[in-house]
Amino acid sequence: MNIHEYQAKELLAKFGVPVPAGYPAMSVEEAVEASKKLPGPLYVVKAQIHAGGRGKGKFKELGPDAKGGVRLAKTEEEVRAAAQDMLGNTLVTVQTGEHGKQVNRLYVTDGVDIAKEFYLAVLVDRASGRPAFVVSTEGGMDIETVAHDTPEKIHTFDVDPATGFMPHHGRAVANALGLKGDLAKQAQKVAAKVYDAFIGTDAAQIEINPLAVTEDDKLMVLDAKVGFDSNAGFRHKDLAELRDETEEDPQELEASKYDLAYIKLDGNIGCMVNGAGLAMATMDIIKLNGEFPANFLDVGGGANKEKVTAAFKIILSDPAVKGILVNIFGGIMRCDIIAEGIVAAAKEVNLSVPLVVRLEGTNVDQGKEILANSGLAIVPANDLGDAARKIVAEVRKAA
Ligand code: GDP
Ligand code: MG
Repeated sequence: MNIHEYQAKELLAKFGVPVPAGYPAMSVEEAVEASKKLPGPLYVVKAQIHAGGRGKGKFKELGPDAKGGVRLAKTEEEVRAAAQDMLGNTLVTVQTGEHGKQVNRLYVTDGVDIAKEFYLAVLVDRASGRPAFVVSTEGGMDIETVAHDTPEKIHTFDVDPATGFMPHHGRAVANALGLKGDLAKQAQKVAAKVYDAFIGTDAAQIEINPLAVTEDDKLMVLDAKVGFDSNAGFRHKDLAELRDETEEDPQELEASKYDLAYIKLDGNIGCMVNGAGLAMATMDIIKLNGEFPANFLDVGGGANKEKVTAAFKIILSDPAVKGILVNIFGGIMRCDIIAEGIVAAAKEVNLSVPLVVRLEGTNVDQGKEILANSGLAIVPANDLGDAARKIVAEVRKAA
C-alpha cells in the first residue's frame, strides 16, 4: 500500500525526521488558508498523487508551457493561482503513464532555500533478505538515470535486522554523502530515524528524494515516498486510514475485496489460476505460444463460486480480454466443486469470449464431466501446454 507525500512526511515527522511544516488542502481556499498558517516568504504548492516526477510533469489541460505539479509561490495570490491550476486537472509524469492522474489533493509547505539535494532510501533487498540503505549525492533527479549513467555515485549497504541500526551505518550514510562536522551528525540522526520508521511501520520502502541541505546547513526531507508491506497490515490498523482508494487501479481494488491477487497486464488472454507459481507458469506458457496475458490472477487455495464469479467479472471488465484460460489444480479444492463454480459463474456473467479450462487433481473426471454437460462452449484441455495452445488458437480465430 502506498500513501501520499504529505502522509509520508507526517509519519516521518512522528519518528523525529526533519520535514518542513505543511498542510494538506482539498480546495483552493484550503490551500490559501494553509499558506496563511506558514511563516513564508516562500511556499511550495505540491500536487498529491501516487507518482513521482511531479515537478517535471505536465498538466494535460494546461498545455506544454505551463509549470508542473511542484510550484514555488511567494504570495497568497501565487498560492491561489497554483492551486487553481492544479486541482481537478490531470498531471502526466514519467511515472503516471500517458493517461496521467487527476489531482484532488494538494500539500502546501514552507519553502526551503536549497544548497544541495541528496537521495536516501531504505528498502528490502531481496538478494540479502535484509533492509538496505541506498544513498547518493545525486538527489532531486530520477535515481534510475543516476543508476544507469553514474552507478558509482550510488552507495548501498544492508542492515542486519537482528542487531538493527548501528552508529557505523550512520557514518556510512554521512560518508556516502560527503558530509563533515555537524551535517554529518545530522545525517547519522536522519538515517537512524528513517530506519526506525521503516521497521516501526513494516514499510516496504521509504524513498527520500530530495533529502536537502538548506542554505542554513540543515538536513530536511523535501519529498518522501512510503509504501507498506500489506502482509503486515494487520499490525498497523491505524495506517489503513491513509489508504486513498481513488489512487488505485479499480480492478485491483475490486479484486482485493475478494482476497484475489490480481494484477492487470497488457495482453489479451485473461488468466484465472490458483497458486502464484502456477499463475506465473501460465503467463509464461501463453507468451511461449505467441500471445500475452491480460492479467495475473491467483484465486488462492479456497476458491468458491463467489470468488470465481468475482474473478470472471474482474477479468471481463478489461475490454482487451479476448479469451480466458482457467488453469486450476485441485489439491485442497476438489475439481468438481471448481467446475461447478466455473459453470455457474460463466452463466451468471453471460460469458462472451472463448473459455479454455484445464483442471487437474482430486475428482478431475467428475469436474470434466460437469464442464462437458454444462451446455456452455467451454473448451477442455488436458494439460498446461494443450491449454495454452488452445486458448491462443481460439483468440486468433475470433480476431
Ligand atoms: P517530484 O518531482 O514528484 O519528485 O517532487 P519533489 O517534491 O521532489 O519536488 C521536485 C523538486 O522541486 C525538488 O527536487 C526541488 O528541487 C524542488 N523543491 C521542492 N521543494 C522545494 C522547496 O521547499 N524549495 C525549493 N527551492 N525547491 C523545492
Ligand atoms: Mg522527488
